[in-house]
Amino acid sequence: MSIYLDSAATTKPCAACIQAIHSALETQYGNPSSLHTLGLEAELTVAAARKQVAAALHCPPENLTFTSGATESSHLAIRGAAAAYGKRKKRAVTTTVEHASVRAAFDRLEEEGFTVIRVAPRADGVLHVEDFVSAVDDDTCLVSMMLVNNETGAVLPVAESFAQIKRAYPQIITHCDAVQGFLKLSFTPEKLSADLLTVSGHKVHAAKGVGALCHKKGIRLVPLLTGGEQEGGLRAGTESVPLIAGFGAACASLSDVSARYARMCALRSEAAAMLSAVGGVTVQSPENGSPYILSFSVKGLRSETMLHFLAERGIYVSSGSACSKGKQSGVLEQFGISRSAADSTLRVSFCAENTAADIAALCDALREAQEKLVHKKG
Ligand code: PLP
Repeated sequence: MSIYLDSAATTKPCAACIQAIHSALETQYGNPSSLHTLGLEAELTVAAARKQVAAALHCPPENLTFTSGATESSHLAIRGAAAAYGKRKKRAVTTTVEHASVRAAFDRLEEEGFTVIRVAPRADGVLHVEDFVSAVDDDTCLVSMMLVNNETGAVLPVAESFAQIKRAYPQIITHCDAVQGFLKLSFTPEKLSADLLTVSGHKVHAAKGVGALCHKKGIRLVPLLTGGEQEGGLRAGTESVPLIAGFGAACASLSDVSARYARMCALRSEAAAMLSAVGGVTVQSPENGSPYILSFSVKGLRSETMLHFLAERGIYVSSGSACSKGKQSGVLEQFGISRSAADSTLRVSFCAENTAADIAALCDALREAQEKLVHKKG
């Protein structure tokens, strides 16, 4: 039996997604650009999925561009907007706690001659609106802030920051990496004042390799990939009809955002209490963070050692961010967590299928780890 507590890394595809992928592979295998009936069927499948993802995002379907995932969506947003709007305004503002994909896009802008300001949380571990807003000036073309941090679950003040920036500088383009908030927190791109917003399929029970960029009407982007008119010319290349169809179906089956949120809040508080009762465990995630993510450190045990110990018992968690393959991203320290605590940090992340019994099994295994690994050392 396995206990999967790593849904922030990736989720198990849902039945509706698998069914939609299967059907697209079997029957809608035409090229959406082909003019014959099979092509038209594939085009209609993509259009139906676009409506489903758009409904989940509360945006018009024509505002969505399908991509290969969040990494590509954020690169298209950040590099595409900088190329379109940054001819004379060469300053961009982001945070120090972004996912590696966003960090890399800004590193690229820097190489191209942009000045990139990376705003850090203060010593209290909180990213303050005024720090972010005051980093913006007349020369700024673009800002980017993630909605939910993938390592701690901290919810960043996107709505307040972007609203203030838009009031003072309406011409600045705002981008939000909403991957860990999509279909988990109630938001819309409009309520966040986000011109551009990144989401990923595999974090919402769809398959890996598909995502979307939501762009407000009228926002110009220079495409990263050219050589075809797909996705309105913004993303050349034959659409992955099966993955897109699966993404749409997964979004349509996850419509109960508020009810799930309430259940996850209860599960997370129970998990925090149960984990805190295990000796040596310190919960690190902020209390007002996303209920889907809980990070904690275990005194005297390194993350990787624990991760493997737990995996041998069929319990799957992450050490920090799964995307970094165990490599320290430095983000935990940015949130005020000490280096030694960061070295012994585990992240558990939930989906609707998890229960308190999963957490109880985790706590038992952590006690066993302490018994066998810490006490043996001592
Ligand atoms: N942004 C955040 C916040 C993430 O957590 C992840 C994946 O872990 C990504 C971006 C990258 O997503 P994808 O795998 O779809 O490229």
